[in-house]
Amino acid sequence: MNQKKLDALNQKFAKVSAEEVFQYAVRKFGKKLTLASSLGVEDQVLTHMFTNETDGVDVFLLDTGRLPQETYNVIEKTMTQYAFTYRVFFPNTTAVEQMVSEHGPNHFYHSLDNRKECCNIRKVEPLTRALDGYQAWITGIRRAQSVDRAMTPFFEWDSVNDLLKINPLIKWSKDDVWDYVKRHDIPYNVLHDQGYPSIGCAPCTRAIQPGEDDRSGRWWWEEAVKKECGLHVNLKDKNQ
Ligand code: SF4
Repeated sequence: MNQKKLDALNQKFAKVSAEEVFQYAVRKFGKKLTLASSLGVEDQVLTHMFTNETDGVDVFLLDTGRLPQETYNVIEKTMTQYAFTYRVFFPNTTAVEQMVSEHGPNHFYHSLDNRKECCNIRKVEPLTRALDGYQAWITGIRRAQSVDRAMTPFFEWDSVNDLLKINPLIKWSKDDVWDYVKRHDIPYNVLHDQGYPSIGCAPCTRAIQPGEDDRSGRWWWEEAVKKECGLHVNLKDKNQ
């Protein structure tokens, strides 16, 4: 989809709710639509919406092999509550074995290149497989999560994976998310109650202090502008 069409789409939906964007996505793309879940609270909201909108819920997750136990617990709880199973993608075994054999289990702490290598092997490559054959994917990105997400539109083109990326929750505040979760009794990761607004791999996530932005507990040893794992970075950004 070219930029002109994207701009027109974003303009058309400029004043609608997250639910309406979500419903449009389900109507338009049907079985060619998938939801990427990190098991964070925003993705739990979207999983709930998905189960309300359609019988054939298509939600995938990337099991990096370094997730906290609390995340596995919420995976199981969500499967039970909504009676569905996730499509689960693991990293390529040979690539992980080679990386860990050569550099040890924690080399991502030692340089940005190392960290990107680990994220590429454990997340970005599996994501490519997860999105293969789909026309659109949904994410739980919110503009208020961090400075580098502040301009995110409802609809953007994922030039790396060559499909439409839809972000229904961009305008929601943290309170909007939690109000929705409580109202609908949606299961969530207990780490959120322990000061973790954003949860990824265990060794790369920590609790934040009051006043810090939501993503500051991810890769906390890096500069704020570099804090993406590659899942939400387009080709032009990857080359910077
Ligand atoms: S978040 Fe950390 S452990 Fe997980 S893939 Fe990225 S660098 Fe590796």
